[in-house]
Amino acid sequence: MRVLIVGGGVGGLTTALALHARGIEAVVCEQAPEVKQLGVGINTLPHAIKELAKLGLLDALDAVGIRTSNLIYKTARGQNILSQPRGLDAGYDVPQFSIHRGKLQKVLHDATVERLGEEQIKTGYRLKSFEQNDKGVSARFETSGGDAILSGDVLIGADGIHSTVRRHYHGDEGAPSWNGILMWRGAAMWPRFADGKTMIIAGGMKAKLVLYPIFNDLNEPDKALMNWVVCAKLGDGSTPIPSREDWSKAGKLDEVMQHVDGVFDLPEIDIEGLIKATEQNFIYPMCDRDPLEQWTDGRVTLLGDAAHPMYPVGSNGASQAILDAVCLADLLTKHDGPEALAAYEAERRPATTEIVHANRKGGPERVIDLIEERAPDGFDSLDDVATPEELTALVGAYQLMAGFTKDQVNR
Ligand SMILES: Cc1cc2nc3c(=O)[nH]c(=O)nc-3n(C[C@H](O)[C@H](O)[C@H](O)COP(=O)(O)OP(=O)(O)OC[C@H]3O[C@@H](n4cnc5c(N)ncnc54)[C@H](O)[C@@H]3O)c2cc1C
Repeated sequence: MRVLIVGGGVGGLTTALALHARGIEAVVCEQAPEVKQLGVGINTLPHAIKELAKLGLLDALDAVGIRTSNLIYKTARGQNILSQPRGLDAGYDVPQFSIHRGKLQKVLHDATVERLGEEQIKTGYRLKSFEQNDKGVSARFETSGGDAILSGDVLIGADGIHSTVRRHYHGDEGAPSWNGILMWRGAAMWPRFADGKTMIIAGGMKAKLVLYPIFNDLNEPDKALMNWVVCAKLGDGSTPIPSREDWSKAGKLDEVMQHVDGVFDLPEIDIEGLIKATEQNFIYPMCDRDPLEQWTDGRVTLLGDAAHPMYPVGSNGASQAILDAVCLADLLTKHDGPEALAAYEAERRPATTEIVHANRKGGPERVIDLIEERAPDGFDSLDDVATPEELTALVGAYQLMAGFTKDQVNR
């Protein structure tokens, strides 16, 4: 069995590692000429970390990430709504990680190079086309030295939200759909708050702030690399996306400050100072795609963002790609190619479709929307606005649906 993986992101690299651990040959083809540490912060949930721990990556993650201890939901003016322990602090067997996306990708990339060998990761290989017959798949890649053709038993499209593999089957889909929210993202070295491992989500759907530390630099012990995201609702999504969905597109300071000045006031942190101290911020429209009726065609299937791009709420983007990878690798040890791919889709497509829909409604972050709706000017007592049971149930229902309650992970 030889598996061709298109895309060397979190999903593609985890698939390669999971296959290798099960004795199956994998080749990763990534369009970028080299794997650079792109992006900013990402949160990875315990069910996904459990799989990375089984692959022996926990120490490597600890060296570059932070074990998230607590998630506090707040109003824009800093009133506490709900505080929840996370990862080990919540009694899970494994941590949740706040981590730089590029560092997570590097951990996976380094392990893939070390375990599979450098020749199994082909950078500068951009998929152009592919075809299959009853014996295997053949794929054509654009490379700096001209076109290259590789063959395998199956082909996995882990090539992200602009997937070429997906477009091959669903060419009439058009651009991703946008919900009218624009996100500014950035990170800067900044004094720690709380225990140095806490995440904050504040505001509501009109303007939301997400804040968490992602890296401790031993040379600056009082500070951490502080990741921030400001989301602002600019329309109802009926207008075209203002900029192409490019994770590396630069944002402007004065534009993001319009949605921060006089909006957010948190006792824990000088948010205006943090954003102003950030060398470069990035804009990205909050977009996804309608869930597909089918991912698999014989020896070809989709994985991660190529299969189920979702709004980045609830910390599920990278986590679900990791779960896809392990599910697919397990099934490829039990069945032949097409049968394994069909079984993988049967398990993962319904599960991820549900998450795409839940994220469109705000995911677990509905708790802050709910309070903002009921008490737009804040509250004297939270109990007058919502009961703790109502708020905990809302977050708990999302965790159960996305597969990461303590019982689901620890069993
Ligand atoms: C540059 C970048 C920065 C990001 N930054 C953030 C962030 O800051 N925060 C966040 O929450 N999420 C970020 N994401 C998204 C996040 O990584 C994904 O949602 C999640 O990890 C799922 O990963 P994936 O492997 O399915 O997709 P991706 O991480 O998007 O990886 C897809 C890979 O496929 C490659 N590819 C695409 N087309 C082809 C082709 N035709 N041939 C070969 N290779 C191809 C891409 O170059 C990419 O490396 C970023 C993604 C990218 C690509």
